[in-house]
Amino acid sequence: MSVKDPVCGMPLEPSKTQFTANFLSRQYYFDSEYCLSSFIEGTKIAYFSMEIGINTDMHTYSGGLGVLAGDVIRSSADLKIPLVALTLFSKKGFLKQKLTPDGWQMEFPNEWDPSKFMKLLPETVTVKIEGRDVRIGVWVYEQESLTGGTIPVLFLTTDIEGNVQEDKEITDFLYGGDEKYRLKQEIVLGIGGLRILDALKINVKKYHMNEGHSSLLTLELLKNSNLNADKVKNRCVFTTHTPVAAAFDKFSYDLVSEVLESEVPEEILKEFGGSDRLNMTLLALNLSKYTNGVTEAHMEYSRKLFPGYHIQEITNGVHSYTWTCLHFRKLFDKYIPRWANEPELLVRVDTIPEEELWEAHVKAKQDLLDFVHNSSGVQMDIDALTLGFARRATEYKRATMIFSDLDKLKEVKSQGKIQFIFAGKAHPKDELGKNLIKDIFAFKDRLKGEVEIVYLENYNMEMAGKLTSGVDVWLNTPMPPYEASGTSGMKAAHNGVINFSVLDGWWIEGCVEGLTGWAIGPFPDQVSDEQERRKREISDLYNKLEFLIIPKFYQQRDDWIDLMKNSIGKVAYYFNTHRMMQRYATDAYL
Ligand SMILES: *Cc1c(COP(=O)(O)O)cnc(C)c1O
Repeated sequence: MSVKDPVCGMPLEPSKTQFTANFLSRQYYFDSEYCLSSFIEGTKIAYFSMEIGINTDMHTYSGGLGVLAGDVIRSSADLKIPLVALTLFSKKGFLKQKLTPDGWQMEFPNEWDPSKFMKLLPETVTVKIEGRDVRIGVWVYEQESLTGGTIPVLFLTTDIEGNVQEDKEITDFLYGGDEKYRLKQEIVLGIGGLRILDALKINVKKYHMNEGHSSLLTLELLKNSNLNADKVKNRCVFTTHTPVAAAFDKFSYDLVSEVLESEVPEEILKEFGGSDRLNMTLLALNLSKYTNGVTEAHMEYSRKLFPGYHIQEITNGVHSYTWTCLHFRKLFDKYIPRWANEPELLVRVDTIPEEELWEAHVKAKQDLLDFVHNSSGVQMDIDALTLGFARRATEYKRATMIFSDLDKLKEVKSQGKIQFIFAGKAHPKDELGKNLIKDIFAFKDRLKGEVEIVYLENYNMEMAGKLTSGVDVWLNTPMPPYEASGTSGMKAAHNGVINFSVLDGWWIEGCVEGLTGWAIGPFPDQVSDEQERRKREISDLYNKLEFLIIPKFYQQRDDWIDLMKNSIGKVAYYFNTHRMMQRYATDAYL
């Protein structure tokens, strides 16, 4: 059995290799002394994220932020970027969703078994929470790539011997509990995470905060550098993901002083974290040399929220191989070799014969419809234009926009059959989000016999893969400017699925009208009146469906296939995490 050197990628025979070392949970083999020392002692990027979507059966993610973090790790492994990731163990996950027959969401713990996927290290550290010493342990997952690259992912847990029950539960629920619970989790992630890296003797070059949840790590760095803020800044990178101020994590200083025991004096905390409340975004922003938004538009919004700060941008992506379905992987392997580790080669999509591209799509669609049948009992029509809409069920995503005018929708459907597949979980405390699911169930009843609609239960990464590869059109109707980026449309593009979306987040950069897909409503700077924007969105939604999308799908299949090729060659080739991580490496890490 041969293995690969994780630094240079050289294939090696373990029994004949003289350079070998243990690192975290396993043994590695190296081609040379140089590779060995660079792997063990070389500097690394420590990537902190409250949620990470590594595997559909490890319930440590809730949505786009976590799936993006997972894609960061997958691309870093392929590209052999020296990175180590940290997140919370989230023993009981975000939630398991069950829906009553009328669409009311019920939530259950989504427990999972870490021992199937990773190893618990012997090292522990402690942090002070509410005056108690809380012990933190760490599970290690190794993300291995075919290139030999390996990225360790550290899952921090307080569910270990020596902690009182209340403290054992700190790492139970992702985004669960109240404000105090959240603050405790952020202490474990930021401060505990930093201490774990020290305990494991990992030589960190930069600390990358994926969203503000981990920004308490800056306090630990301040303490360790005698409050020298410049030194801290030089080592911190911050990626903000939130386009509106109301969504920033903020804690009252009363709560902070009750829960957190910091050696950083309060006036310094207030200087960097805000005078009235501790604002985690502001704290990260003030103590990072490099800060970026996740799309061009999001950078603009962020600059308006924080005037005077140098906020840059790196547009998000998805991990190409992960989000390309089996049938398209085969096709790309045949016609575009090396695409998986060089997704920019997808620009050569025109070398794929049209019939084979269509055939791959039909197979992916059949897989999805089988999945729908198995999970809901509904048999959908393989020949019907199928639209997908799956994302967190929360107000700004406007999942019911397509049902704004049912008479109009019936008129649209007289041009050609259409069917819809929905999925998505609402946060347990998001009543409006839960009501949206209920509303979709009500529309489903009202349209019975005219438009087939299915709502799939318990949206997760596996289902996201099936949906974004198996539908014909990926629908997205967020309320600008709330969608900082969005990534599910990029997954769709990798499978030749056409985007039909509001111009917000990434689609402002991805949309070339009629060529890479279609826009719903105007560009953000074209209209300032909200009512006018809404009117144009609704009219685009129905008119484009009726006069452009349905006729093209049913009557101009060759043109449709050209659009599919453009999704791959003009969208997926760019909107991937390989390109994104190369940008982080050159702009933020080096
Ligand atoms: C990709 C993905 C998301 C992100 O979807 P958006 O529509 O871009 O917000 C959310 N949840 C899961 C499970 C995903 O795979």
